[in-house]
Amino acid sequence: SMQRSIDEKRRETLNKILDIKGTIRVFCRVRPFLWTDKRRTPEPVLSELDRVVVRSSGSRKEFGFDKVFHQEANQEDVFVEVEPILRSALDGHNVCVFSYGQTGTGKTYTMDGTTDQPGIVPRALKELFQQVSSDKSSSYTFSMSMLEVYLGNLRDLLASKPASRAYETAAKCNLNIQTDPKGSVEIEGLTQVEIPDFAKARWWYAKGRRARSTSWTNVNEASSRSHCLIRIVISRRGDTPDAKPKVSKLWMVDLGGSERLLKTGATGQTLDEGRAINLSLSALGDVIAALRRKRGHVPYRNSKLTQILKDSLGVGSKVLMLVHISPCHDDLEETICSLSFAKRAKAVDSYGRLPED
Ligand code: ADP
Repeated sequence: SMQRSIDEKRRETLNKILDIKGTIRVFCRVRPFLWTDKRRTPEPVLSELDRVVVRSSGSRKEFGFDKVFHQEANQEDVFVEVEPILRSALDGHNVCVFSYGQTGTGKTYTMDGTTDQPGIVPRALKELFQQVSSDKSSSYTFSMSMLEVYLGNLRDLLASKPASRAYETAAKCNLNIQTDPKGSVEIEGLTQVEIPDFAKARWWYAKGRRARSTSWTNVNEASSRSHCLIRIVISRRGDTPDAKPKVSKLWMVDLGGSERLLKTGATGQTLDEGRAINLSLSALGDVIAALRRKRGHVPYRNSKLTQILKDSLGVGSKVLMLVHISPCHDDLEETICSLSFAKRAKAVDSYGRLPED
């Protein structure tokens, strides 16, 4: 019986690892060279199927991933790997997809994309309606919200008159985060629109994006200094008409730039913005690390970002972290920081071991 209890323990541990591995997945995408990049050989970043190798001045570091997208990978290649997590959202799991990385590494390209090369968000919206049209046993309704987190304030991007993002009025665009007795997070007053079909979804999404960019000098500025969150609430009704609908949330999050502004000599507002982004990104990293280790205490309270996502980052939810890196020599330091963040977030390394922090 002692042997049996050892076997049971072992199985338990293995299940735990498999469970975590299935819950938090970490992918890496390497941006292609742009004409503005200074190219040097040998190239410092090598991507393989499930690892990234970084070479610099004689040293060689390896980082394992669930999946790596090399420079030539296209939007379709990325979306194919994201699709299963959409299925999970339709099945009733809360899901978060994050786009992480230094400014200029392709976070927004991956999420939004271009008209010719649409990214995850437009593809996901389309896919949701496609998937449910073939499911005859349940009926689904979708609703959408979009918000920006800037300097720890929440700004409703689908409101009929979005609040100004001006530094001085930031406090005025704050929405309250509430948690109901069942642990479900609600953002008081956040606009939530019904999306009956893909055309309407795309229309609202475009509206939210416009609301975001008009308050900034340009889109790049917005995406480096604030987080942009899209929430789709999925409500599914099964065969039995009296049963309560099953509700789940799908979050698609374009995170603020992970570069450390402190080092660039930023001052004043830019410094505050950089600090706010860095704090919330490390809070997110801490939450994911705690979940991965199944620690009792998960520090959700340390940032607005993690408070908002509390019910979508815990037990039963699925997380996909897409870490973006630059292929350039000049960005190596930030690249290594992003890869280290990924390593910390990642459940199990490519050899099946839990990595060290
Ligand atoms: P971020 O959101 O991380 O600041 P962007 O998405 O704005 O970065 O990307 C920076 C630039 O690189 C943009 O001009 C974008 O079109 C381009 N880019 C990024 N990733 C790719 C890619 N995979 N293929 C083609 N162009 C890309």
